[in-house]
Amino acid sequence: MFDWLVVGAGFAGSILAERLAAERGDRVLVIDKREHIGGNAYDHLDAAGVLIHRYGPHIFHTNSEAVFAHLSKFTAWRPYEHRVLAEVVSPTTGEAVRVPMPINLDTINKLYGLDLTEDQLEAWFAERAEQVDVVRSSEDVVVGKVGRELYELFFRGYTRKQWALDPSELDKSVTARVPTRTNRDDRYFTDKFQAMPRDGYTAMFAKMLNHPNITVRTGVDFAEARRRFSFRRVIWTGPVDEYFGHRHGRLPYRSLRFQHETLDQQQALPTGTVNHPAEATPFTRVSEYKHLTGQVHPKTSVTYEFPAAEGDPYYPIPRPENQALYKRYEALADAERDTWFVGRLATYRYYNMDQVVGQALATFERIQKVVPPAPVN
Ligand code: FAD
Repeated sequence: MFDWLVVGAGFAGSILAERLAAERGDRVLVIDKREHIGGNAYDHLDAAGVLIHRYGPHIFHTNSEAVFAHLSKFTAWRPYEHRVLAEVVSPTTGEAVRVPMPINLDTINKLYGLDLTEDQLEAWFAERAEQVDVVRSSEDVVVGKVGRELYELFFRGYTRKQWALDPSELDKSVTARVPTRTNRDDRYFTDKFQAMPRDGYTAMFAKMLNHPNITVRTGVDFAEARRRFSFRRVIWTGPVDEYFGHRHGRLPYRSLRFQHETLDQQQALPTGTVNHPAEATPFTRVSEYKHLTGQVHPKTSVTYEFPAAEGDPYYPIPRPENQALYKRYEALADAERDTWFVGRLATYRYYNMDQVVGQALATFERIQKVVPPAPVN
């Protein structure tokens, strides 16, 4: 008899399993239907021996001291600030150029052959920005800030590929995640803590789950676990609609197909990621892991991301009607006794890793208040 069945060995499940076992002495069974731990953050050596992320590049960044301190119990870190270039066609020369993304002073000067200062760029954006009275959609956010030409070049095609929706149909939160800068800061994130687990994510998860009270079974799904094991309570980190047998209909998710390639050269890209916003290019971005991991190896591996309708559920699609449908599932989840719903899919939120860690730690605090410790036998 386990005190807890944790469904999913990603950030949400692994953080909670460790807390329950280490802080309360509870007996925890962690299962994952995939053959590995780590969830979407899983990394491993490919056939050539290059460390890659099976589910696309995962860059850790957070402003939360508490989240960073908690993860630091399970890993040392390698400082890393992610940089992204976008490959677009210059409106002035008609040539393909790679420029910093998020848009900054160098992006505009290179794209238009200008020599603007920060103050001048502020005015330049203001001249091009369209008046948007109420910012509702992802299109409104961008055209209201930098105008239509930059919106078309950097955002429209990328967003249409990524979500199969026009930015005018998507919640403003999607493009609001990407800032616009007037200075020369070309870091993708500006969080206080930016680092990669020194030995990789999987090694960090392995350390987290390495506790005498934790049993891990990969390649086991919930239905099988229910048949094979006894447990008192459940931590559910899979899709919330799946838990309830899709009884209100399916929550929409967007998927991706990853194309991993190893190249017989030391380096392939100038930065960790190059975005390809043009709609005619079927992939959205390509990333090279050695920038992230610092690995020294004669070969290098890259991953192309092709957005897809079918496949693993990666991104909850942020639209008001989807949120309304989620609310119906949330009501069911709230009423469910002895099951806790945590993580990106279980709470249908477009969360980064650090937010999931924060959510899992907060859930643990709630559990501490309402669930008595396991009887000692
Ligand atoms: P997951 O990692 O999805 O874990 C859930 C696990 O549950 C899965 O392993 C799944 O197999 C398992 N599961 C589901 N249903 C069942 C079932 N019925 N039975 C058994 N097991 C089940 N965040 C960042 O902070 N930085 C980034 O750079 C970043 N890049 C990303 C890139 C991509 C392409 C994607 C898709 C996401 C990215 N994220 C990034 C987000 C990050 O992946 C998530 O925030 C985090 O991994 C979510 O953790 P989780 O535990 O909620 O879910």
